[in-house]
Amino acid sequence: MPSAQRTGVSLVGGLILCLPLIALALLFEFLTGAALQRTYTLFLINLIAVIGLGIFSGNSGILSFGHVAFIGLGAYVSGILTLPLATKASALPHLPAMLAGIEWGLPAALLATVISVGIFGALIGAPIVRMGGAAAVIATLGLLLIVHGIIIGASDFTRGSNAFLGVAKKTDIWVALAIAVPIILLARWYRDSRRGAQLRASREDELAARAIGIDVVKMRIGAWTISAMICAAAGALLAHFLGAFSPSKFYFDDTLTLLTMLIVGGMTTVSGALCGAVLVTLTVEILRRVEGGVDLFGWQTPEMFGMTQAGLCLMILLVMYRRPAGLFAREIGERWLRPAPAVPHAGSDLSVAAAGELTIEAATKDFSGLRALENVSVTVRPGEIVGLIGPNGSGKTTLLNLVSGVLSPNAGRILIDGADATRWPAHKVAQAGVGRTFQNIRLFGHLSVLENVEIAATTRADGSAESARALACQLLAEFGLEGSAGRLAGELDYGAQRRLEIARALALRPRYLLLDEPAAGMNPTESNQLLAELAELRRRTGIALLVIDHDMSLIMRLCDRIVVLNRGQVIAQGKPAEIQRDPAVIEAYIGRKRAARVPTATSLQMQGATP
Ligand code: ADP
Ligand code: MG
Repeated sequence: MPSAQRTGVSLVGGLILCLPLIALALLFEFLTGAALQRTYTLFLINLIAVIGLGIFSGNSGILSFGHVAFIGLGAYVSGILTLPLATKASALPHLPAMLAGIEWGLPAALLATVISVGIFGALIGAPIVRMGGAAAVIATLGLLLIVHGIIIGASDFTRGSNAFLGVAKKTDIWVALAIAVPIILLARWYRDSRRGAQLRASREDELAARAIGIDVVKMRIGAWTISAMICAAAGALLAHFLGAFSPSKFYFDDTLTLLTMLIVGGMTTVSGALCGAVLVTLTVEILRRVEGGVDLFGWQTPEMFGMTQAGLCLMILLVMYRRPAGLFAREIGERWLRPAPAVPHAGSDLSVAAAGELTIEAATKDFSGLRALENVSVTVRPGEIVGLIGPNGSGKTTLLNLVSGVLSPNAGRILIDGADATRWPAHKVAQAGVGRTFQNIRLFGHLSVLENVEIAATTRADGSAESARALACQLLAEFGLEGSAGRLAGELDYGAQRRLEIARALALRPRYLLLDEPAAGMNPTESNQLLAELAELRRRTGIALLVIDHDMSLIMRLCDRIVVLNRGQVIAQGKPAEIQRDPAVIEAYIGRKRAARVPTATSLQMQGATP
């Protein structure tokens, strides 16, 4: 699908969400009283915040407890910028002269707030998102606590824990709507964009994402910064809606509310954020009334503090139990807006240009006391198929991890076409033309089969969206997966998943492909088919393969040359026939005692060695 058409589809998807919001705004503005108008305005502000949070947390998969800090900063910064001079002089007498003399309008203040909080967000986000996983989540919690402390501590600017008063109430339904609509469109567009799709892939499996050339940290910093800016805008609107606020407004209560909206609705979609915001706002409105005690047919219920929070937690639990992905795992309208996949350019040329060789030079790798590899040197020449065999734990996967940039060696070098790639991050190795698969399959299970391959194709610097789609379709066809293009990758059977992983790695158009046990779990028919596919692939494209497998029949028939590892050391290298006769190899595979009794000419294949 051409990128302009893709953008169009995203924007129409966004408009579908905006239209009911606009209709409701008209309804509340002209047909109801001030109380409902205020509730709706507050809902729109919350919606902006939750969509902002979703751009980061939804796409990256890292739950953030810290974004309410950006809302708080947005409120205070914009409040200081718009506060009337007279109020400022009495309420904030110690303000620096530069700020004391400013009384801006809301638009200018909003812009300045979004930019300044965005810069702060980018700086603080860089180290947080680098951590990833649970550490990043805990760091976001730290951010919330620290910013809360700073707001209280910087009393010259914020009046400390006292209320910040006198902000002009300029946010009404229309102001909130005017910001909410473009932000919904932006979030919807971002989600479907190349970057959004790459970030969502990394959410599924970070290591696999890096192995197809995605610079995960860069994508996360981008999304984090955009989301911090949107939350700051929500904060500015909130300040000019409330008129007065204190630091406690921007703490755990609102964090819980926002996260509930996101989790209940469905983290990964804008439709989910919207639906979650509606449900949670309604629930909170009802529970707040019940909390204060209500008149039930003449019987006054007691006051029940904490009921709102308990209700929200119950909502999260219920949704997690019934629908872990939230209510909307797909965007509203996605199914019928998205046209059928493009027809592949059948048989387009996939050949790769030989540029040098892949060299592992005297690599050593230690894992806290355990020497997994010692002084290992292996060279893979253009168009060559090299087999890497050895008993379990001999260091085969570790060697692949060194080459692909997942690990770096303690000593030795990795050279890709002459360039020293020893310390390159995994995504750079991938972009330099080295693709890989994983011993324990690592697909993006919740993305479609087509998306898995297409996203990999988009990481190529020269790839347009159209050519990425066409290449993905062609690769699926070559691996017999075209019939499953629309299915989720996680739903495929084992053999198909392994083939899909190879197709995904090939979407990088690599010159070298590293396969870690591609035939594991396959029956003989499947592994014969794989053998034919790999041999044909090499013949047609000139790609070089480094293949690890325990299927000796496959390795002996497929490979030009075999390298044997034992206890982290290369014990033999040579043609399949030589390796089968090598006494050291036979000993490593079947043990010293039996080796003494077995004639050296015994082939490993005949022994049926399955280490
Ligand atoms: P193979 O793929 O040949 O079965 P591996 O490369 O996976 O072997 O492992 C080689 C040795 O290194 C094993 O003893 C394994 O336990 C150890 N090892 C591998 N990865 C790690 C790691 N990340 N941390 C600690 N030890 C590891
Ligand atoms: Mg292994």
